[in-house]
Amino acid sequence: MIVGDISRISGPVILSEGMRGSRMYDVVKVGEQQLNGEIIRLDGDQAVIQVYEDTTGLQVGERVSNTGLPLSVELGPGLLSSIYDGIQRPLPLLAEKSGSFISRGVTLPGLSHEQEWEFTPRVKKGDHVTGGDVIGTVTEFHLEHRIMVPPFVSGVVKEIRSGRFNVDVPVCTLDNGYEIPMLQTWPVRKGRPYLQKMDPDTLLVTGQRVFDTLFPVSKGGTAMIPGGFGTGKTVAEQTLAKWSDTQVVVYIGCGERGNEMTDVLTEFPELLDPRTKLPLIQRTILIANTSNMPVAAREASIYTGITLAEYYRDMGYDVALMADSTSRWGEALREVSGRLEEMPGEEGYPAYLATRLAAFYERAGRVVCLGSDERKGSVTVVGAVSPPGGDFSEPITQNTLRIAGTFWALDTNLAYRRHFPSVNWIKSYSLYLDQMKDWFTTSGFSDWQELRARAMYLLQKEVELQEIVQLVGPDALPESEKAILEVTRMIREDFLQQSAYHDIDSFCSLEKQYWMLKVILYFHERVNQAMGKGVALAKILKLAVKTEIGRMKELTEIGQIKELIVHIDGTLSALEAER
Ligand code: ADP
Ligand code: MG
Repeated sequence: MIVGDISRISGPVILSEGMRGSRMYDVVKVGEQQLNGEIIRLDGDQAVIQVYEDTTGLQVGERVSNTGLPLSVELGPGLLSSIYDGIQRPLPLLAEKSGSFISRGVTLPGLSHEQEWEFTPRVKKGDHVTGGDVIGTVTEFHLEHRIMVPPFVSGVVKEIRSGRFNVDVPVCTLDNGYEIPMLQTWPVRKGRPYLQKMDPDTLLVTGQRVFDTLFPVSKGGTAMIPGGFGTGKTVAEQTLAKWSDTQVVVYIGCGERGNEMTDVLTEFPELLDPRTKLPLIQRTILIANTSNMPVAAREASIYTGITLAEYYRDMGYDVALMADSTSRWGEALREVSGRLEEMPGEEGYPAYLATRLAAFYERAGRVVCLGSDERKGSVTVVGAVSPPGGDFSEPITQNTLRIAGTFWALDTNLAYRRHFPSVNWIKSYSLYLDQMKDWFTTSGFSDWQELRARAMYLLQKEVELQEIVQLVGPDALPESEKAILEVTRMIREDFLQQSAYHDIDSFCSLEKQYWMLKVILYFHERVNQAMGKGVALAKILKLAVKTEIGRMKELTEIGQIKELIVHIDGTLSALEAER
């Protein structure tokens, strides 16, 4: 074992001499307290180490020992519903072991090695298996947890067992002597392999109208949510974690205030998944690295999170990963880089910020999984970005913009006016629209793209019309354009606004979204017709049906929404008849 000694300490970064032979990203134990750290630079004899724990009290001269292993996570049954710190230490156990505050140098496995799981084999003696093949299954809550041959391993099954085992017991032995337990480990900084990346052509249904209808993200796609303080980033991430149609959610609370994480921790166990009616926490893995926790572990937390996500993807599941906020992660990177006295780039961030961000988002994707049976899985990444002062020109926002496929720009003005989600419909975009066209058609919404385009056209037109109104007053507009302003008000208030806290409206099925928008656009069409027949807009604006359109959100039956079309037609026909 390589053992060195500390020659310098600068916050979370230390320098150790005598480390020749070490490898980049080796995990080391630092000082008497055996603090967990990782080598982030090697220079001859010297290693620069980032320490995942508070280094207060550490002394120059104390020993550093190299474990020879890269920073890794444990993968296997028992991950779901876990709450981890940035290096996969279970927080509840950590708190138990160290009292009310987390003491240092505690090493705890990510999974329970005592708990036994009922293993049901899927292969038999004599079968040839390769990396990614499912050799058996375990029930983890309601999920079929597929035990896979680790990547790069293959052979003929010599023995396969069935029964209750802990994760360390080999359940399968290959003819070459290789033993496969339910536990796998994987280095977090390395993406797990897959056979092939697929096109982002399938919608991640979030149940949020502004996302699904206007700026959709695909399964395996990437989305960013930038926004100033209080614009609703955390609420959006939590809403997505609750309602996204994935089997597994990894939620990373990264450098934000502790109380926001507490919300997640207290709320999730009580919430039911709307699809399965099972507690949401049973499909969720939480990683908490709040602002008061060590900064280097924050840097590691997103890699820990995405590795866990990839593991469930490899089983053939859809996984959504939320990171709140990637800006705090970038700041951790900046702090460590500053301690290293690296040449600072823009706003003090290291020059490698862009490549690190890209490498992280690159691990998202919908893939054909490793293994001989046809399995497809996905990891969708949604990163919140918190630019200081809400100024989108800063480096983290700008660099993420180049990578993310969907851009949900939160808007301070909208949030101030309590228009939530405060997604700015002019600035936001989705690059997945074209590729998802067929998906919407085969899902029964053949004119979805057209409805969306009409809504977007009207919203853009509204900006133009409002400028005119500001210059010369509303009277300057012709009736047909005044009607547009009424319709865009409906689109904004009756369609785009969606409270995360409303019993019924917090989730809106795709079918309901489709019919809601159809009703509003039908209203517009029918109003134009009526005006063409000489009905005055003033009369139309007094119609009670407008209030009914405003209440569509609260309806639970699609039939009731469809009926509105008949109702709109009836009331406008009546006005036409009066003429
Ligand atoms: P940020 O994380 O951007 O600082 P938050 O997500 O904490 O902001 O949101 C701030 C507040 O905005 C919330 O406490 C809530 O009152 C309101 N809010 C945000 N999004 C919604 C929403 N979709 N529905 C209702 N209220 C919302
Ligand atoms: Mg927040």
